[in-house]
Amino acid sequence: MSDQPKTGQLTFVAPRRAKPQRHLADLTMAERRAAVTELGEKPFRADQLSRHYFAKLTGSPEEMTDLPGDSRERLVSQLMPSLLTPVREITCDDGMTRKTLWKLFDGSLVESVLMRYPDRVTMCVSSQAGCGMNCPFCATGQAGLTRNMSTAEIVEQVVAGARALARGDVPGGPARVSNIVFMGMGEPMANYKAVIGAVRRLVDPAPEGLGISARGVTVSTVGLVPAIEKLAAEGLPVTLAVSLHAPDDELRDTLVPINTRWKVAEVLGAAWDYAAKTKRRVSIEYALIKDINDQEWRADLLGRLLKGKLVHVNLIPLNPTPGSKWTASRPEDERAFVRRLESHGVAVTVRDTRGREIDGACGQLAAATPAP
Ligand code: SAH
Repeated sequence: MSDQPKTGQLTFVAPRRAKPQRHLADLTMAERRAAVTELGEKPFRADQLSRHYFAKLTGSPEEMTDLPGDSRERLVSQLMPSLLTPVREITCDDGMTRKTLWKLFDGSLVESVLMRYPDRVTMCVSSQAGCGMNCPFCATGQAGLTRNMSTAEIVEQVVAGARALARGDVPGGPARVSNIVFMGMGEPMANYKAVIGAVRRLVDPAPEGLGISARGVTVSTVGLVPAIEKLAAEGLPVTLAVSLHAPDDELRDTLVPINTRWKVAEVLGAAWDYAAKTKRRVSIEYALIKDINDQEWRADLLGRLLKGKLVHVNLIPLNPTPGSKWTASRPEDERAFVRRLESHGVAVTVRDTRGREIDGACGQLAAATPAP
C-alpha cells in the first residue's frame, strides 16, 4: 500500500511495480496472431481463442473443443491467465446491485460494481489500484495510488460481470452488459494507454472485443486537460464525464486538487472541444455537499458557465465516506440548486445512490481488506 497523501498532494506517475502477465485482452487481433505464432501455433488459433473469451465468455480449456488438446492448456496459460481473484461479493437491491472486491496478482485490491436496471445493465469499473488525485471527499483518494491496472485487468472486470449475467447469477434472467462507466477506483486519464486499450476491447465487435456500443461507455475524469484533448482525437464516440464539483477556482482548488494545475475554464474549454469533435453531450458530475458547494449563487454561476452547451449535469448527493466531515445537502437546497440550473436551460438530473448500503456508490470504493 502507498502512504497516505498530504492534503492537496497529486500523484501523476504510478509507482513502478511488477506487471501482470500478458493476456489476450491486452492485444489487438494482429498482436494476438503474432503471439500465437510465437507459441508455435497457426495464426487462426488467435481467432478461436478470442471467440471463446469475448463471445462465449469462457476461459476454461475443457470447453475449447475446437482447439487441439495438447495446445489448449498452453494457449490458455499463456494468453488467458486468470488476472482477478474474487475476494468478496456483496449485493443489495434484491441482488440487482453487486459489488465485487478483486485481488490482483500482486495482492492489490480493486472493486467493480454491477447495477441492473429494467432497461440496461451498467458496470462501474476501476482503472487503477487506488488513486493519485486526492479529492478529500472521495474514499479512494485517501489511500493514495498503488499502481496502474493493465488493459486486461480492466477488461476482466467486465467479462466477469458478463459471465455472471449470462449464467443467470443476477436476478431477472440472463442479460448482457450494456453500459460501462469508468467511475470505479482510479483516475482513468492518468492511466491513459491502458484505459484506451480497454475501451477498444469493450467496443470492438466480437471476436476482437466484447461489442458493447461506444455510446454506452463513459470515461470520467477530474480534468486532466491534455488527456481529454487526446481522447477527443481518438475517434471513439464515448461519453466524457467531468468531475467538476465547483464552478469557481477558489473552491475547486480544495475539492478537486487537480484544479491547481488546470483551472475550471481550461477544463470546460477542453470539454466543449470534446463535445464539438464527438457530437456527444458531456456529463458534468457535481456532488452536492452541504454548505460547501450547494449555495444558490454557485448554481447560478454554474448555470452561466454551462448555458447553451452540449451538456448534462449529474448531481450526486454526497455519499458518506469514513472520516469525512462532510455530508449531503439538505433536500430543499438540492431542489433549489436544480431549479437554478434549470432556469439557465441546463439539463440536470439527480443521480440515484445505488449501492450506498454496500459502500458501492460514487466515491465509496476503497477496497479495504475484509474482516477474516
Ligand atoms: N477519478 C475519476 C473517476 C472516478 S468517478 C473522476 O473523479 O471522475 C467517481 C465519481 O464519484 C466522481 O465524479 C467523483 O468525484 C464522485 N465522488 C467521489 N466521492 C464521492 C462521494 N463521497 N459522494 C458522491 N460522489 C463522489
